[in-house]
Amino acid sequence: MKDSLGAGASTTSVLGFDPVARRNTYQLVAEAIARAIAEGRLRPGDRLPSERDLSQTYSVGRSSTREAIRVLESQGLVQADGRGGFLVMDYGNLLRQALGLLVGLERVEISDLFEVRKTLEIETAGLAAVRRSAVDLEAISAHLAEMEAGLGDPGRYNFADIGFHIDLASATGNLLTVRLMDAIRDAMSKTFAVAFHLPGNPELSLEEHRGISAAVVARDPDLARVRMRSHLERVEAETSGVQSGRAVTVSLVEDR
Ligand SMILES: [Zn+2]
Repeated sequence: MKDSLGAGASTTSVLGFDPVARRNTYQLVAEAIARAIAEGRLRPGDRLPSERDLSQTYSVGRSSTREAIRVLESQGLVQADGRGGFLVMDYGNLLRQALGLLVGLERVEISDLFEVRKTLEIETAGLAAVRRSAVDLEAISAHLAEMEAGLGDPGRYNFADIGFHIDLASATGNLLTVRLMDAIRDAMSKTFAVAFHLPGNPELSLEEHRGISAAVVARDPDLARVRMRSHLERVEAETSGVQSGRAVTVSLVEDR
């Protein structure tokens, strides 16, 4: 017996509309479950309903449900819990994983990364200055303190540095901005690892972050943008060795 998703799907096939574009039942089931996750009806950490329950809910065969779960698993939306069931994963990581893969497979240049960062983060700094809450300021100042404490510890410093930039995204209140920043996090951290080892760079960088923070605290969007731009331009120049003449180049793909 063939799976059916109800009247809509059968009418379409009876009338012979565009059979090439018709999707398989399992794809429709996978999309329906993904929608339930996107709409928050299934949340990260929730157990996915059993194969049998899903089959009944969507009126499809078990094999279609099994295949749909496999698709969701390959997309990272669900993960086997080791006991025959599946858990809903934190889909915020998906964009990051997808982008990390893209950066690994294709030759994404450092200049591309900084171009995206400038496009995104300069305006983000301005919006953060206008919209920041007390909670945002606390997070920002905690990351500044962490950077200072991490001056002798690249891992700690860089983690806090990225955290600072994501705090600003978060302060805009725009979830998509946060997700986009989160997506380029791994690529960022590679350039950070190099920049940290340039003499005097961590101290200088910390001062720049303090300057950006001061503009955000002062609710001065223009100053926040100016300072973010000069921070990113300097780090880019340092990282690519253009300004300093130091032979430092970073590849986003080399160690994969
Ligand atoms: Zn920074």
